[in-house]
Amino acid sequence: MKIICIGRNYAKHAQELGNEVPKEPVFFLKPDSAILRPGNIFFLPDFSSDIHHELEVVVKINKVGKHISERFAHTYYSEIGLGIDFTARDIQKECKEKGLPWEKAKAFDGSAPIGKFVDKTKFEGKNLIFKLLKNGEVVQEGNTTDMIFSIDKIIAHISQFITLKKGDLIYTGTPAGVGPVKIDDRLEGFLFDEKLIDFKVK
Ligand code: MG
Repeated sequence: MKIICIGRNYAKHAQELGNEVPKEPVFFLKPDSAILRPGNIFFLPDFSSDIHHELEVVVKINKVGKHISERFAHTYYSEIGLGIDFTARDIQKECKEKGLPWEKAKAFDGSAPIGKFVDKTKFEGKNLIFKLLKNGEVVQEGNTTDMIFSIDKIIAHISQFITLKKGDLIYTGTPAGVGPVKIDDRLEGFLFDEKLIDFKVK
């Protein structure tokens, strides 16, 4: 499986990092070795001193698809969850300045914690409201109504370039409020009132 992440999909987050609001979805990939499954601890890598949390809605692809039209995109996923797109912000800054790819800053081991997935029928027709607590304090709050590109648009766009397969995960972008994590932090992610993610940083 592969992980495809969307960047700059919430205008306020694009602004907080000084980026332009994109005209088409920006995406990048993480390998399967980036996954951090529920119940595991996230260990801070020693190559960065500025690892940021980015809480994102994640959809799990349920069948193979290529050139998917936006109209049918909703049939390509049936489960929704939350994930953290951990980012080595210091390394990313270097990569951006040199015009290099972001993988070193984004694709490292453990950089894609995921939580429990929920059947999407539970939320049919609703905008998704989600939040991240760091040590019990709300640090990020999002609502998918603020997405620049909807989940269906994202699926349609990505599948023009890359075949989606069952089990692939799409991280749909982070709302504003990204920030650093340090040793002993606890991160808890909620979709509405349901806690889907809960882990510690060491
Ligand atoms: Mg992100």
